[in-house]
Amino acid sequence: MTRDRFLTLWTFLHVVDEADTDIDKTDRIYKVRPFLNYLLHKFRQYYQPRQHLSLDEGMVPTKNQLAIKQYIKDKPTKWGIKSFLLCESRTGYIVNAEIYMGATDVAIQDLGAVGNTVMRLLTSCEKERKAHIVVMDCYYNSKLCLELIGDYRSKVIRRGQLEPCPLRLIPGNHWPEIPEEEKSNHMCAVCMEKHNQFNRQNPGVSYKDNPNKKVKTNVWCSLCKKYLCVKYESTCWVDYHTKVQYWR
Ligand SMILES: [Zn+2]
Ligand SMILES: [Zn+2]
Repeated sequence: MTRDRFLTLWTFLHVVDEADTDIDKTDRIYKVRPFLNYLLHKFRQYYQPRQHLSLDEGMVPTKNQLAIKQYIKDKPTKWGIKSFLLCESRTGYIVNAEIYMGATDVAIQDLGAVGNTVMRLLTSCEKERKAHIVVMDCYYNSKLCLELIGDYRSKVIRRGQLEPCPLRLIPGNHWPEIPEEEKSNHMCAVCMEKHNQFNRQNPGVSYKDNPNKKVKTNVWCSLCKKYLCVKYESTCWVDYHTKVQYWR
């Protein structure tokens, strides 16, 4: 295809039928709305996001003159179409998106504009019936919003004070090993913590009555320097490497 032919086709490419009377032309992006909705529907249809999601704004760069064009000084792309994106944290896969077009009607008055945006983006996950953890910066935090979606912040984390993820939770070369020189037996760190947690909550209970027994093991993770059991039906190894509170 020649360049001119491509540009001609490009000029006349439409994804909505302008003659269709059902189109809401007060919508500022009605010319691409059905296409955008179709894409978002397909994004959700073909992939189930994992537990951690992130919610933030992004800029779609454009040099066109558009009423919805925005300027954000802290973004690498300063001029463009501002959009709110709900993505899977690990991959950046888009789960839901919303184009910002200035002030809109708010469905839930007390939530304010930002809170309503958060709620609209998250309702796309409702059908999954899964508990997600959503990470977002303090711009999106309103008290009521956090009450509605659940506030699992252990404490206020501000920029520069981010708690590093413990090494045990970072996927890498965690393999069960039996240390060569090690002769004596060791206790599994997970079973031990479960035992201690029970003791703390039920002071005075004898070892015999504690349902969480300390378990001996000679297998360890050399990366974490922890002994863990890997017996059949034991979840200690996986729990230790995937859960923040591995004793629960
Ligand atoms: Zn164990
Ligand atoms: Zn490890």
